[in-house]
Amino acid sequence: MEISGTAGKSVLIVEDNALNMRLFSALVSGQGHRVLQATDGPRGLDLARQESPDLIVMDVQLPGMSGLEVTRMLKDNPETADIPIIVTTAFGLRGDEKEVRDSGCDAFIAKPIGLSEFVDLVEDVMRCSARERQHMRRVIEARLG
Ligand code: MN
Repeated sequence: MEISGTAGKSVLIVEDNALNMRLFSALVSGQGHRVLQATDGPRGLDLARQESPDLIVMDVQLPGMSGLEVTRMLKDNPETADIPIIVTTAFGLRGDEKEVRDSGCDAFIAKPIGLSEFVDLVEDVMRCSARERQHMRRVIEARLG
């Protein structure tokens, strides 16, 4: 039975905070998707390359390598550039926005995260074509200046 239009995808969650990991995993698996987990940057990069997930939910502050660095490396490689990436971030310091934008991520969501907002974004990004995601990136650029 189909739960939603994008059910049955694989979603890699890269997050070092155990509570956030449990929350995101529960929301994603509740939508009918398979969850892959990594708790540091290098492991996230490896899993993304090995598993080619349909979506990555990427924390910024991670042990080993920042989530934005992992995002840049995946977006710079033609083999992984098309995997959509949602960056989850607590915008604190001014200047973070530019770094998020420059990483090449497809979307971002600020912590603390609204549950339905998160689920909607996950589904929307997976439903989008690569062309539509390019448009979303332009929207991010416009929003972040
Ligand atoms: Mn973190």
